[in-house]
Amino acid sequence: MKLSKFPRLRITHGPTPLEPMPRLSAALGGPTLWIKRDDCTGLATGGNKTRKLEYLVAEALQQGADTLITQGATQSNHARQTAAIAAKMGLQCHIILEDRTGYRHADYQHSGNVFLDYLYGAHVSEVPGNTPMDAAMETLAAHLRAQGRKTYIIPGGGSNAVGALGYVTCALELADQAMNMGLVIDSLVHATGSAGTQAGLVVGMEGARTQIPVLGIGVRAPRQPQEEKVFVLAQQTAELLGVPGAVQREHVVANCDYIGEGYGIPTPGMMEAVTMLAQLEGILLDPVYSGKGMAGLIDLLRKGHYRKDQNIVFLHTGGSVGLFGYQHAFPYPA
Ligand SMILES: *Cc1c(COP(=O)(O)O)cnc(C)c1O
Repeated sequence: MKLSKFPRLRITHGPTPLEPMPRLSAALGGPTLWIKRDDCTGLATGGNKTRKLEYLVAEALQQGADTLITQGATQSNHARQTAAIAAKMGLQCHIILEDRTGYRHADYQHSGNVFLDYLYGAHVSEVPGNTPMDAAMETLAAHLRAQGRKTYIIPGGGSNAVGALGYVTCALELADQAMNMGLVIDSLVHATGSAGTQAGLVVGMEGARTQIPVLGIGVRAPRQPQEEKVFVLAQQTAELLGVPGAVQREHVVANCDYIGEGYGIPTPGMMEAVTMLAQLEGILLDPVYSGKGMAGLIDLLRKGHYRKDQNIVFLHTGGSVGLFGYQHAFPYPA
């Protein structure tokens, strides 16, 4: 893989820790659970978008851009992290937020990620659900270019082949950590949405021949389209890296049974997972992604999906800032 030829900003606080979760493992009766702390990547409180933005914004700067444009849901972690890196690099940032949930709670609309988008100085516009977001970004870009700005569009979630490179590097980092610790990882589990994280991980694992299976727990689309989206992006990423064909269709596995009513809508499983991780491990998950991802892992563990002598790693993709946009959903303070 020709990973080092791509321009990259070095802003991730890494390698992120790979830590055991003894109290959660005991509470669930095994197997041995680990957590890869990509919530600690260090940009705007961290999260998985840091690694993608290292490559995306390096490319934007290489192309001479002075303005970043991106989009996401109201409580988008990707938007918040893009706003932060734009501030850090002295770029203008325009964010289009889509009302994907219909929530009118004040915390959802103004706190958490939204508050930070504004604090980082981004230009924020809000549009109704089901707006064609790519077209909306193109329209905005044309408008800004007419004013003389040099725009660079980052797709939702930072998920294209360039962004996915960030998770190819994460796969290599994790494989290296496991080797140094003498740890055999039987499965890597994480929340999957716009697909860049899983696509990059699968390419990294296959490219490095580590054979660590990756399981994405879906947060939005049903299984078939989600796996297809990950597979298409993984193929594009492998091609970009000069290893076409590295990923086979069967390497892409998603479980989309834990979405509940829809993207960004809380589920009882998410509430339980967020509460368990907080009270057993002192770790903050998030309501939209890692909470549902962990809910899926907990349910699979309870159903005996894994053997007790296995080592399962949960990739914590961040997002805890989103808790403050969902305080209304939790019964605290009691
Ligand atoms: C964006 C995001 C994900 C999903 O990653 P994709 O690359 O979009 O699939 C998971 N967790 C958190 C906290 C996120 O912000």
